[in-house]
Amino acid sequence: MQDYYEILDIPKSATAEEIKKAYRKKALKYHPDKNPGDKTAEAKFKKISEAYEVLSNENKRSVYDQYGEEGLKGAGPGGMGGGFSSMEEALRTFMGAFGSMGGGGGESIFDSFFGFDTSSDERVLRQGASKKINLTITFEEAITGTDKEVMISNYTICPKCSGTGAKSKKDIKTCPTCSGSGQLYQTRGFFSMSTTCSSCNGEGQVITNPCEDCHGMGRIKKKQKVKIHIPAGIDSNMRLKMKGYGDAGDFGAPAGDLFVFITVSSHDTFERQGDDIYLHLPLTFSEASLGCKKEIPTPAGKSYHINIPEGTQNGKTFRIRSLGFPNIHGSGTGDLLVNVAVETPINLTSNQKELLQSFQQTETELNHPRKKTFFDKVKSFFKG
Ligand SMILES: [Zn+2]
Ligand SMILES: [Zn+2]
Repeated sequence: MQDYYEILDIPKSATAEEIKKAYRKKALKYHPDKNPGDKTAEAKFKKISEAYEVLSNENKRSVYDQYGEEGLKGAGPGGMGGGFSSMEEALRTFMGAFGSMGGGGGESIFDSFFGFDTSSDERVLRQGASKKINLTITFEEAITGTDKEVMISNYTICPKCSGTGAKSKKDIKTCPTCSGSGQLYQTRGFFSMSTTCSSCNGEGQVITNPCEDCHGMGRIKKKQKVKIHIPAGIDSNMRLKMKGYGDAGDFGAPAGDLFVFITVSSHDTFERQGDDIYLHLPLTFSEASLGCKKEIPTPAGKSYHINIPEGTQNGKTFRIRSLGFPNIHGSGTGDLLVNVAVETPINLTSNQKELLQSFQQTETELNHPRKKTFFDKVKSFFKG
């Protein structure tokens, strides 16, 4: 004997919110999309969906609490007692639970899952689920912008039945169990109550002959090639929203969106900071002292000659305008910042040492006046 509360791991006193939360957590874990081909997960998904279907419905829950599963068996033809026979039923429950979250009636599981903005308008029809994909592009592609093609797998409106789920229009009939009201009224002992009609899931209509392609779901899973335009100047942690590229919605409701999360690969030579690009340029001691013309790489691939003036100090940064990233919002272009690192010569030959020593000699003579003042200061300090 199964216990719906145990299946969802919740106490008998759980609130509606707690039931929903517990179900969402488990349903995401065992969802067939996440466990393709896994029969155990599939069975588990059906079970938890069945438990949720009952416990999320106030009437069904009270019957279940009072009479157990047996009580639900009497709830009309095709009652809940037998459990979910098909995956479609379980998936419908799943979509129902995720389609009616929080303020945004139509927000999808992924929107809420990833903390996207949710709109506050309540929609009656369920919008399709939004999808998330990750896309990594190169540093160069981020500078120029690029187009990428990706394969996504979406629920799309079944072309055979145009989303009705029925083989033909004649196969959609008013539900005979509830006569189209979607509700069932029954008297049990001293009280009468209404329950959602389980023959039509409260829709008031039944499909007598389901579409062969989508098995009555109205939607089919389809692989699609999607071209994504990535604008120049994009950076890691930015995301692109492809409106309408998520799952198809319910019977004419808007489709979900596709969110493309961008990662820009780092570069061996360049470092990005906002729209600016840093280049570390090593200079020899003599290049920095005498000045020179240096050929440097640029992110756009062209070479550029930079003039290093005489007496350039270690750590000096030269700004080359507009050789950085174009701003993604169209406000100009970043700069290329060339940061020089003067290298102290090592492993000197004896000849080089001699040269440097004689250079040092001249250095001492030239700097004499400055040094003298320094020593004078020291002397005067000790003399008081
Ligand atoms: Zn009905
Ligand atoms: Zn169909």
